[in-house]
Amino acid sequence: MSFYHGALETISREDLESLQLERLKELVDRALKTDFYKEKLKQKGINSGSDIKSLKDIEKISFTSKNDLREAFPYGLLAVDKKDVCRLHASSGTTGIPTVIYHTKEDINTWTGLLSRSLAATGCSSDDVIQNMMTYGLFTGGLGVHYAAEELGMMVIPASSGNTKKQITMLKDFGATVVHATPSYLLHLYVKLEEAGIKPSDLKLKKALVGAEPHSEDVRLKIQELYGMDVYNSYGLSEMNGPGVAFECEEKNGMHLWEDSFLLEIIDPETGEVLPEGEEGELVLSTLTRQATPLLRYRTRDLTRIIPGSCSCGRTHRRLARIKGRSDDMLIINGVNVFPSQIEEVIMSLKEMGNNYQIIVQKAGALDKLIVKTEVTAEVFTDDTRDLEKLKKKIVENLSASIFIKPVIELHESGSLPVYEGKAVRVFDER
Ligand code: AMP
Ligand code: ZN
Repeated sequence: MSFYHGALETISREDLESLQLERLKELVDRALKTDFYKEKLKQKGINSGSDIKSLKDIEKISFTSKNDLREAFPYGLLAVDKKDVCRLHASSGTTGIPTVIYHTKEDINTWTGLLSRSLAATGCSSDDVIQNMMTYGLFTGGLGVHYAAEELGMMVIPASSGNTKKQITMLKDFGATVVHATPSYLLHLYVKLEEAGIKPSDLKLKKALVGAEPHSEDVRLKIQELYGMDVYNSYGLSEMNGPGVAFECEEKNGMHLWEDSFLLEIIDPETGEVLPEGEEGELVLSTLTRQATPLLRYRTRDLTRIIPGSCSCGRTHRRLARIKGRSDDMLIINGVNVFPSQIEEVIMSLKEMGNNYQIIVQKAGALDKLIVKTEVTAEVFTDDTRDLEKLKKKIVENLSASIFIKPVIELHESGSLPVYEGKAVRVFDER
């Protein structure tokens, strides 16, 4: 079991909380230097970090949303002199105004440290070769993990995303032992490996670090089984640097959220009320260490809960359960709330299913119609039509038992549904 920041990763809860309080005060002082927070904090009677007396005092501060970041574009949230900024990352949204996060050199070092401890927690070391299949550029997945892998002395192949043929050639040529990719891309890559007649046993892969999009436990199990490698869940968002917010350790039982850098709260997304530990709600994070772009009580929109109890790896930072989806992902179909993750769970638990699916919602007169298109394995696809009808019936039964809606099922040939280089797009609400 290897630790990168041993003492910090196993710090006692008491010491961790006093470190958090000290850092929260510093965060408030930094936020007061930004145009965005200055007025907001003063209105609440907070004129200095010393007005924060306990961690609970954070509840006096208003939430920050993605929209606030857009309103503060381009420099309203910058807390340092521009000459001290060494990099920015941005994520584009549907509105056209990107959300931008600036970093000082120290911020990049802190982020690299958080990811180095994350990679070390999955057992990565200088013995490993990592093929980084996440996009390099404004997106954080490429460069973020790149720096940490180098820090750990791993050999990094900065492959970036896409170009599957080339990815396969590099896997063969350089013998990567670790890959960093979205889970949907690894499922797609497997189909392409099969087409090229390459078996995972011909490669050197031992583990995959997957994240950037919601995926069920069944998807993890499927990737593990297909490739014969360990798959670790990685959670992050560009507003909190990117990957390296929470990561699974070798126990693979929830993601340790690095609480010395991120103060976490779980709230009721409807009321904004802070929920008791263990209850499911929206994750809210504050940047305890970032210098250039401080964020207080940022609403991630991601739904999760804290896993109670301690982890046998010895790390004391609390663990997040797999992200269920985003509060803004929820579909209301004929009045019933449905998360795409519930549909994925059912589909991926069936052995006949292939590696890709789509969820489409349409208007059918006054009602809503749910269509689930799913790929099936090559053996199943060539079966008798009666067998295919039976399979469709089984999927409808399993889905309606879980989401209380009867969908229309379309079965597709393996590899025929569209794939995306970055995050998978699988839900199409056409109403
Ligand atoms: P971005 O800011 O573009 O990196 O997107 C961040 C968002 O991706 C998060 O807020 C989540 O909704 C999603 N995401 C990232 N990692 C995971 C993960 N491991 N599981 C589920 N969703 C994730
Ligand atoms: Zn652990």
